[in-house]
Amino acid sequence: MTDYDVIVSGAGTGGVVTALTLAKRGHVVLLIDRKAKERIGDKTCGDALASHHPRKLKELIGLPTIPHSIVEYMVDGIDLIAPDRENKLRLDGPTIEGVSFNRLKLGQWLLALAEKEGVEVLSSTKVKHLLFNEGKVSGVSANLDGEDQDRNLTAKIIVDATGSSGMLRRQLPSSSPIDRVIDKQDMMVAWRSILETPEHTFETPNILEIYWDQDQTPGGYTWVFPQGHHRVNIGLGLLTLPGHRGPREIFDNFVKPKWDFMKKKLDIIDSSGGMAPMRRPIDTLVDDNFILVGDAACQVNPVHGGGIGPSMLGGALAGISASEALDANDTSIGSLWSYNTRYMESYGVKQAALDIFKVFLLSVTNEEINFAFRKGIIKGSDLLSVSITGEMKTGSGEKFRRLISGLGNIPFLKRVSEVSKLMAQMRNIYSDYPKSPERLAVWRARLFQVYEAARRV
Ligand SMILES: Cc1cc2nc3c(=O)[nH]c(=O)nc-3n(C[C@H](O)[C@H](O)[C@H](O)COP(=O)(O)OP(=O)(O)OC[C@H]3O[C@@H](n4cnc5c(N)ncnc54)[C@H](O)[C@@H]3O)c2cc1C
Repeated sequence: MTDYDVIVSGAGTGGVVTALTLAKRGHVVLLIDRKAKERIGDKTCGDALASHHPRKLKELIGLPTIPHSIVEYMVDGIDLIAPDRENKLRLDGPTIEGVSFNRLKLGQWLLALAEKEGVEVLSSTKVKHLLFNEGKVSGVSANLDGEDQDRNLTAKIIVDATGSSGMLRRQLPSSSPIDRVIDKQDMMVAWRSILETPEHTFETPNILEIYWDQDQTPGGYTWVFPQGHHRVNIGLGLLTLPGHRGPREIFDNFVKPKWDFMKKKLDIIDSSGGMAPMRRPIDTLVDDNFILVGDAACQVNPVHGGGIGPSMLGGALAGISASEALDANDTSIGSLWSYNTRYMESYGVKQAALDIFKVFLLSVTNEEINFAFRKGIIKGSDLLSVSITGEMKTGSGEKFRRLISGLGNIPFLKRVSEVSKLMAQMRNIYSDYPKSPERLAVWRARLFQVYEAARRV
């Protein structure tokens, strides 16, 4: 007998949606977060979300439309700006539409939906350890607000949705097929401020801006996301490559002097740092009685760092598969495996292809990006299709003609073509994701070959 069907650790977007999905299907769920209840949802973030994510969630679990009170501004497009700042690409159209929103209000809205469905919430409670019974996950120990002694809480399934720390994942035994540690070079560190700009008017608050600069923000970018005519979320992220600089230092020494509005009067609403994993999803998101969701599962787009949508998708798919396993009275890895196949098919494949693109981008210089923008080698629609599908076609037709019209840097063009083939290879490998745990090791070996090749491009 366990205390709950499922204990979800972490009430971010991933954890709450997991809990909500399970409760809707009639399961007994405990959701734990170390934050005070009224702070659940608060997070250092760019606060941007493409509309196709909530639409998908509506389809999957009947998530209601995000209320207007949460939305700061509607987004119609994104400008990608080259390092020389002379060239830019506009990405727009229905697939790019989205919202710039209030993160705390989104979290509180989701939490209220989960509670309405019967999820029990323990806030101000820190999850500390995974508990095991006969070598299998069986619960967590947690410290409840104001209590001296930790409590042991048991469940048939434990969900790690503790964000980028993945603090339960890291406590799995070495025999688990789940990767416990994320390579440092796959982690993004970021710093951002939300500011009121009384002396500066954002003329097009419906357009977000992303600035590439391989010297200042390798593997990342600086974002300027207006939230109205006089309010902005501005920040930067970079990968923690060897010898990397701190994001706050770059914010002070690069962002503040380079953006004119930063020199005018500013009222700081919030300034803080954060981290996110930028890679393919963890190769198996499940073990016996155990599930990973959200940043803990590396469910983040490795090129632009968007993780709210994928964490909610992960939460919904995890909830559906966990519900089926509970109904079958079998919460073994084999029974929970359908979460892997569902996630890898719907979003993991795109993440993996984009991870290869990310590896390539790390070797691209500012001059090469300026060249590609200047010569029109990259079109907004191409980048859009790369970011939506993880697919980049360069081999024939109009796109190829566009490529060769950029004559002058043939080696670079060849590399672009090479990486697009590797991305296609990655997609093929994911279309062959194992149907059961036994084939995982053989399948994983195929991935590493593509990464090796991508590093050589
Ligand atoms: C600077 C920055 C900017 C970003 N901008 C965007 C953006 O614009 N759009 C976008 O889509 N994504 C963005 N992301 C990524 C996005 O924020 C995350 O991918 C997403 O929030 C992941 O949700 P999650 O539920 O997995 O984790 P989180 O939202 O991090 O939630 C984890 C929860 O677990 C709780 N927790 C952790 N440890 C414990 C413990 N021991 N006990 C109890 N509770 C615990 C935390 O309090 C937290 O509430 C950004 C990330 C960063 C760092």
